[in-house]
Amino acid sequence: MRLRSGRQQKTDDRPEAQNTPGLAVELRGVRRRYGRGAGAVHALAGVDLALPRGTFTAVMGPSGSGKSTFLQCAAGLDRPSAGSVRLGGTEITGMTENKLTELRRSRLGFVFQSFNLLPSLTVEQNVLLPLRLAGQRPDRRRAAAVLAQVGLGDKARRRPGELSGGQQQRVAIARALVTGPDVVFADEPTGALDTGTAAEVLGLLRHAVDTLGATVVMVTHDPAAAAWADRVLFLADGAFADELERGTAQQIAARMTTLTARTARAAGAMAGAVV
Ligand code: ADP
Repeated sequence: MRLRSGRQQKTDDRPEAQNTPGLAVELRGVRRRYGRGAGAVHALAGVDLALPRGTFTAVMGPSGSGKSTFLQCAAGLDRPSAGSVRLGGTEITGMTENKLTELRRSRLGFVFQSFNLLPSLTVEQNVLLPLRLAGQRPDRRRAAAVLAQVGLGDKARRRPGELSGGQQQRVAIARALVTGPDVVFADEPTGALDTGTAAEVLGLLRHAVDTLGATVVMVTHDPAAAAWADRVLFLADGAFADELERGTAQQIAARMTTLTARTARAAGAMAGAVV
């Protein structure tokens, strides 16, 4: 069993990061349709979701099940065709593009498969970038604190190219945490890493949730990565079809196999009905 008591004990210099009641992410009846008429694709076909603050959620599903669309709609990068999305208690549906950009910069963190660090900036400058983009003072003490939290306290002056892949992803995590965001969205964060390094990076995300009160939503295809989450949600054909709490990698893989077979059978039956 995972120890979760650290969440109460550790301190964060961002007071609102802790013990804030309420939900970090809330989706109600979210639909996303691409195209129109007979050719329309219902990438999200009615998604409801409520994620409390301080939780780590993994989203899995077969290819084409709607994972990317879900992430983009939940993170305010794409607009649903219907339904509502709330982030940190703020309704983002209908927000202007400027407001949405501001919200993404100041209240969301992103971690990508490909790290997305700026190679010409130092590690510290990369970490401070979200604060600069949000028009806030580039607080170097804050950068030093988050870099220490990800175990890179001595790498502030290095450039990304001088670091290993795992270290670069740690910088990306520090950058995602620097604003004390309501939610960190991670898209296949370990897709480019070997198994050992992947475990270190996932351990860091776990640590951010347990000790800093961060909220992490991670899309992954890897059951071993998903096993670090509190809860795994399984998407099929644009809707959540199943979920597993504190599952092992084996249990998660077994659910995925069942889900993929079910989806393939349904697609086969549909094709049979059409021909
Ligand atoms: P996943 O990330 O699980 O592979 P996606 O969210 O990328 O799934 O896609 C869900 C469905 O929406 C798929 O059928 C895909 O082909 C379709 N889709 C995604 N993006 C577009 C787009 N821009 N235009 C048309 N269809 C799209």
